[in-house]
Amino acid sequence: MDTSQKKVLITGAAGFLGSHLCDRFIKEGCYVIGMDNLITGSMKNIEHLFPKENFEFYFHDVTKFVHIPGKLDYILHFASPASPIDYLKIPIQTLKVGSLGTHNLLGLAKEKKSRFLIASTSEIYGDPNIHPQSEEYWGNVNPIGPRGVYDEAKRFMEAITMAYHTFHGLDTRIARIFNTYGPRMRLNDGRALPAFIGQAIRGEDITVFGDGSQTRSFCYVDDQVEGIYRLLMCDYNLPINIGNPDEITIKEFAEEIIKLTGTNQKIVYKPLPTDDPQQRQPDITKAREILGWEPKVSRAEGLKITYEYFKNVIKNN
Ligand code: UDP
Repeated sequence: MDTSQKKVLITGAAGFLGSHLCDRFIKEGCYVIGMDNLITGSMKNIEHLFPKENFEFYFHDVTKFVHIPGKLDYILHFASPASPIDYLKIPIQTLKVGSLGTHNLLGLAKEKKSRFLIASTSEIYGDPNIHPQSEEYWGNVNPIGPRGVYDEAKRFMEAITMAYHTFHGLDTRIARIFNTYGPRMRLNDGRALPAFIGQAIRGEDITVFGDGSQTRSFCYVDDQVEGIYRLLMCDYNLPINIGNPDEITIKEFAEEIIKLTGTNQKIVYKPLPTDDPQQRQPDITKAREILGWEPKVSRAEGLKITYEYFKNVIKNN
């Protein structure tokens, strides 16, 4: 590889966000090492990158010692199960990748003097008591609930990253990522968007949990990747929310998807999962001011692209 070329390690490379980040860094001319243990990721998301000279894939679990030969300019830690169904199925791995995995990667960053960015989450705010959520809010998390394994691992991840920053002078970034959607989401990961689109395409009822009055704010993946890229390139070390503030109730969201897909299916109501946050909307003042970033893709545009993607996935299965 060309020595002036930036070399970047992306963990969770075969996942939804990780694979889009690989694409972005390849496009920027970087040398990209994608790492994944494929517990929730899929090779399909990165197959197209294998012919590229500046892409390499390491099949590895980051909770084990991580070794990368040569220099390393950036590390982006995106490995983690990321849906409530996953937390229930693989709670220990969820805890380990956020804690032990982050520790290993911080050690690597310290050794290689790499800039280090973590994928934190709006889940660190738990079921929030303030609205919208700004970075100063400390959150309302149930540590022993079903989401606790993810939320607390991510909170620990922020804590240990800040500790490496203040104690070892490591150059770190913390992205607090709010709900993001787009192509390469897993169809059956239990999340609202793939669930609703999948149900509509298969001709099944649309399952809204609770009365559907809970809210989320959905960010299209290209916007999210742009925000993360800008964060890595700026010199701000405190957490920054990256998400789309356009908030919607889950019932309205289901109705939008019914309209988009033209399905005749109806909404059926199922019990609300434990600790499901009642409302969520990012305050993105900091991202606007510090990164000069705000989302550009409307939900109507983003959902159309995502619907086309899922139609193909289902057709080819
Ligand atoms: N949800 C739903 N039906 C489904 C899947 C999810 O009503 O089939 C609800 C879920 O209870 C939550 C919202 O949609 O209130 C968003 O869920 P998702 O898993 O996408 O994201 P998260 O809760 O992690 O923000």
